[in-house]
Amino acid sequence: MSLATKNGPLPPELAGQRGLEPVLVIGAHREELSFGERVAEGLDPRIDVLRIPVGISGHWPRPDEVFYYETRHRELYLQLRQQVRGRYKLVIDLHRGINQAGRCADVYSRDAELLQCVQHAAKGHYGSDMGASLVQVVRLASRAEICRVNSTAHPTSPPAGPFGKTVIPAGVWDSNKFLYVGIEIYLACDGQGDAEDWSFARRLVLDTVRCAS
Ligand SMILES: [Zn+2]
Repeated sequence: MSLATKNGPLPPELAGQRGLEPVLVIGAHREELSFGERVAEGLDPRIDVLRIPVGISGHWPRPDEVFYYETRHRELYLQLRQQVRGRYKLVIDLHRGINQAGRCADVYSRDAELLQCVQHAAKGHYGSDMGASLVQVVRLASRAEICRVNSTAHPTSPPAGPFGKTVIPAGVWDSNKFLYVGIEIYLACDGQGDAEDWSFARRLVLDTVRCAS
């Protein structure tokens, strides 16, 4: 892993009162690096970019390779944690998936307030219905937390989810040293996408940084 640092003073709207220094991570899944590169090229240069030159495959492994794959996956994210800990307070992990129906995004985090803010921002950009379908948010929680919320919730209260689980180690997504946000941008076809895809992704990254501030 190598760090491409472009450290400069952050503008007030990005620096945030909590001093969240943001970094965008690209290439955790190697097939998605070229998309990440295009997004990073036009990103506000005051957001650092961490490129993972040789990530792991984003394709789900064959049954006999699951153990090896999960081990590699965990190792990569624990290495990433070493790289960002003490250096960044906000870690945005960019991924690219495929959705033949068209471009959209999922945003994953343990921080419910941040997710709400990101979705609110999307509704502001694209209109309420469109924004809600273009950008979906998923709250990461441990199994124990999901059980606790479900068992203590009042039967008539709105659902606290949707909750999601992730193969990313809890030491990353639930770190108390930095806030982890995963963004998966779904494109209509495989590849690095086009200019509209990249600006859609950049806007979501910026919204995330602002919402974390
Ligand atoms: Zn990915």
